[in-house]
Amino acid sequence: RHEQISILGLGAMGSALASSLLAAGREVTVWNRTSGKAGDLVARGAREASSVEEAIGAGGLTVTCLLDDASVREALGPAIRKLAGGMLVNLTSGSVRQARELAGWLEGYGVRFLAGGIMAVPPTVGSEGAFILYSGARDVFDRVAPVLGPVGRPHWVGEDPGFAALYDMAALSGMYGMSAGADHAVALVQSEGGDLETFKREVLQPWMEQMLAITVAGANVSESVPDEYNPAMQATGLENILSASAEAGVPADLAGHLHASLWRMQRAITVG
Ligand code: NDP
Repeated sequence: RHEQISILGLGAMGSALASSLLAAGREVTVWNRTSGKAGDLVARGAREASSVEEAIGAGGLTVTCLLDDASVREALGPAIRKLAGGMLVNLTSGSVRQARELAGWLEGYGVRFLAGGIMAVPPTVGSEGAFILYSGARDVFDRVAPVLGPVGRPHWVGEDPGFAALYDMAALSGMYGMSAGADHAVALVQSEGGDLETFKREVLQPWMEQMLAITVAGANVSESVPDEYNPAMQATGLENILSASAEAGVPADLAGHLHASLWRMQRAITVG
């Protein structure tokens, strides 16, 4: 019976997960290392367990959402035998290797395991755009997906338990690149006394929206050059950004990186 869900970890994210599951009518047991974080959830029908063993003992699916891989090992360690024959979903962020090793460790104790990556922030958990990456055995995913569906659209990315972390991290890197680009854009406008709110609303947002799909489709590491793309023209255009940044005293690391990569592409074409 997997409708009962035990959430280990009531930080910002664990609490949001528990809240969305309660809202969907799931039976939820919660545990947190430091007590005193379950009040609101208990008032809405959650059961509070005073130990990890007790939370696992509630039966059903166990979900970890803790700080990092070490905290997952530390929390589960003393109670690991109790998980034998059960299912655990880890929604704690970590590296690809940590996910693979965690899978091996848990499987050694007879635990069916699914690794996850949450593509949401606490306020968007359970909202339409939220989705959760999962990797691990397909049959475990098929059982978990309907149970955890309310927290975000379940999306399986393969048998390798490291792949949820891989895609999660890579997607976050794309997001941080966008953030760094937007921060840089705003710093440039600010350096000349431009109106930031107007720039953001009337220029940056519509421009980034227009370019988003093209940027994602055009992303490549091999640096092979698409037909419609002239790297020398792009690199020369970037030089305006670099010199404006230098004049304003605004660091332009991302633009500099792209500039170097465009000239590498151009050299590859010229050399043949
Ligand atoms: P918080 O810092 O709010 O919470 C951390 C949680 O981990 C707390 O419940 C804390 O317990 C617990 N914890 C830390 N160390 C240990 C330990 N050694 N043993 C047991 N419990 C421990 O983090 P979030 O809830 O925001 O994030 C949790 C996970 O979700 C992270 O891996 C994060 O990367 C991921 N995530 C978070 C997102 C976000 O926007 N917040 C987005 C996507 C993923 P205590 O209260 O006792 O300190």
